[in-house]
Amino acid sequence: MTASPARPPALAVDHLVKTFGGITAVDGASFTVPEGSVTGLIGPNGAGKSTLFDLVTGVLTPDSGTIRLQGEPVVGRAPHEVAAAGVGRTFQTPKIFAGMSVADNLAFAATGQTGESALNALFRAGTVADEERALDERVAETLDFLDLAPLADEYARGLSGGQRKLLELGRVLMLDPSLLMLDEPAAGVNPALTDRLLERVRALNDEGRTVVLIEHDVDLVMRECDHVVVMHNGSTLATGPPEEIQANDRVIDAYLGGV
Ligand code: ADP
Ligand code: MG
Repeated sequence: MTASPARPPALAVDHLVKTFGGITAVDGASFTVPEGSVTGLIGPNGAGKSTLFDLVTGVLTPDSGTIRLQGEPVVGRAPHEVAAAGVGRTFQTPKIFAGMSVADNLAFAATGQTGESALNALFRAGTVADEERALDERVAETLDFLDLAPLADEYARGLSGGQRKLLELGRVLMLDPSLLMLDEPAAGVNPALTDRLLERVRALNDEGRTVVLIEHDVDLVMRECDHVVVMHNGSTLATGPPEEIQANDRVIDAYLGGV
């Protein structure tokens, strides 16, 4: 009677299956992402990691299985509904608008993509002028947070690979997500910018946001994450804290041994 109910996980995936024609990309994956964690999702190329992100974010619909966000089933929701529920996601190849300025990319992330409900939740402002001011402020904050302010007026097409990843993270942050899903944020990013990106991810986690990141650099994952999920052939081979994963014989045989 007196015990308070445990907080549901930020994300819980159960027996998830997704096939493309004859290929089973996700084959019974089951795992949870603890609220407040930085969870690393690792596994060989083709293991089904990006497809799993597509399923969670409503880009794809699973053939079977369940997905819960803080206990709430979300299978069948459209991407903008999942975003409005607090899930922000970056792609392996950043989705930015090359012909727009950096600042406009951020502004458009809040207004152009997600529809009324997300926007209203963010800006409970009375007039159009109030709303514009709130949007401008949020763009400025996000530019500062990511050290992108000096590039605010540059076309996104002029950015380096690493700067594009920062900008895409900024686009995701415009909607104030509680769960951040980052697909290979460090891939193709120079070491200095990777450090800055990881430092910002830690800051976001310190604010209470849960982070799931797909990453090939196992050392980085073991260093940065407090929870690890290993995927192999579409299913989950192991989940647990980094030290447990590194000592897991099945993981070593299937993945770590070959790295
Ligand atoms: P990972 O991100 O772990 O490298 P993916 O989720 O991208 O793996 O891919 C898992 C498997 O599903 C791969 O065999 C891939 O070729 C296949 N796959 C992914 N998306 C599609 C698609 N849209 N159509 C057909 N096959 C796909
Ligand atoms: Mg991938």
